[in-house]
Amino acid sequence: MNRTYDVVIAGGGVIGASCAYQLSKRKNLRIALIDAKRPGNATRASAGGLWAIGESVGLGCGVIFFRMMSAQHKRQAQGSAVAVDASTPHILPPSFFDFALQSNALYPQLHRELIDRHGMDFKFERTGLKYVIYDDEDQLYAEHIVAQIPHLADQVRWLDRAALRQAEPAVSHQARGALEFLCDHQVSPFRLADAYLEAARQNGVELFHNTNVTGVLHQGSRVSGVQTDVAGTFHCQTLINAAGAWAADLSEQATGLRIPVSPVKGQIILTERMPKLLQGCLTTSDCYMAQKDNGEILIGSTTEDKGFDVSNTFPEINGLVQGAIRCIPQLAQVNLKRSWAGLRPGSPDELPILGPVSEVSGYLNACGHFRTGILTSAITGVMIDKLVHDEVSPVDITPFLAKRFYSGPVDKHSLVAS
Ligand SMILES: Cc1cc2nc3c(=O)[nH]c(=O)nc-3n(C[C@H](O)[C@H](O)[C@H](O)COP(=O)(O)OP(=O)(O)OC[C@H]3O[C@@H](n4cnc5c(N)ncnc54)[C@H](O)[C@@H]3O)c2cc1C
Repeated sequence: MNRTYDVVIAGGGVIGASCAYQLSKRKNLRIALIDAKRPGNATRASAGGLWAIGESVGLGCGVIFFRMMSAQHKRQAQGSAVAVDASTPHILPPSFFDFALQSNALYPQLHRELIDRHGMDFKFERTGLKYVIYDDEDQLYAEHIVAQIPHLADQVRWLDRAALRQAEPAVSHQARGALEFLCDHQVSPFRLADAYLEAARQNGVELFHNTNVTGVLHQGSRVSGVQTDVAGTFHCQTLINAAGAWAADLSEQATGLRIPVSPVKGQIILTERMPKLLQGCLTTSDCYMAQKDNGEILIGSTTEDKGFDVSNTFPEINGLVQGAIRCIPQLAQVNLKRSWAGLRPGSPDELPILGPVSEVSGYLNACGHFRTGILTSAITGVMIDKLVHDEVSPVDITPFLAKRFYSGPVDKHSLVAS
């Protein structure tokens, strides 16, 4: 079957869903979203933290950094000054702070809008994020963070031992204090993606679930559509690559360039429901914890370079359990409900890959959101909508363009082969 649209979005995780929603609001485009829901889909695996400062200063993965950048991606990044040392927590560049903070600021309004206009509640909760400090090393890192973000002084608060115990009575006596990020909150990640998708559907977007994009069509140097496994051929003016950890394959099919997006595994565990134990979200040098609106506590997460493997493994789960009990001793009495793993769409510099690719029209990247795709989905959708309509983006897109990975003139064929 042949279908014709203005925009086709490949990938229906939180990023594709947000793009679909923002694009659908003007009701001037025919839009299709195609999603395969592959095992490892990051949105379903996520903790739902909107930790704009916490993530930007390297705390969002529970500071467990097992990741090694693949040799191929190190080669691709050579000379472009974009590779970072992911073996220790580190502070991301100012361009990312702007992107993350602007996205964060959109959530209160987005929350109201999706409830009022579409009846969808993604459970936005104002929680703050506390970095719990046990020892001198934690203290030094917390001081380092504060020194790096003087412009955000009004968004951070030091809690000494007594203040932490008052704010979070369940935290262990071992903790000597905390650094709190006041603007870092949380949502339900599944409900957020569902809310975007349902609102987009109500605005006329056609959703093709359980459908794989298997090939990309071209007319000269222009992308003109996609082929799918079960829904036939889709013709379009613009293809948006929101394929998460699988985005490199689609970019190669569309542009000849294999963008450096690779899966970064995250394991996470969930307790059974319990009365309110945490007043806000917590992060430590071992793990992070977020009690959701239904009383369950999410404890995450590992950061592993294991390809597309989504198994749960004893040592890593044990590390999360021990880290959680160290911080909240009462968790030793609580049952685990389930565990899972998801695949973050990682990039060598931990920044997303957005926007057009030189010399290929009809194609936009919306991928590589690594560990902040829930947080940054809001601004990504807005930016992609502006790009499709040839309007000025609210955030400078230059730091996020794919071309930052390639120094000198791009030789498409050599990049595909590497
Ligand atoms: C354990 C864990 C915890 C996390 N916690 C947080 C957090 O607290 N806060 C935060 O902001 N972020 C968090 N993240 C990161 C966040 O989940 C991701 O950045 C985000 O979900 C990426 O969204 P996405 O839409 O790009 O990818 P995905 O959600 O993976 O969606 C991509 C979709 O594209 C589909 N697809 C791929 N190829 C094709 C194809 N050819 N045809 C059709 N469909 C295709 C896939 O099946 C998938 O459904 C976490 C991630 C993990 C794993």
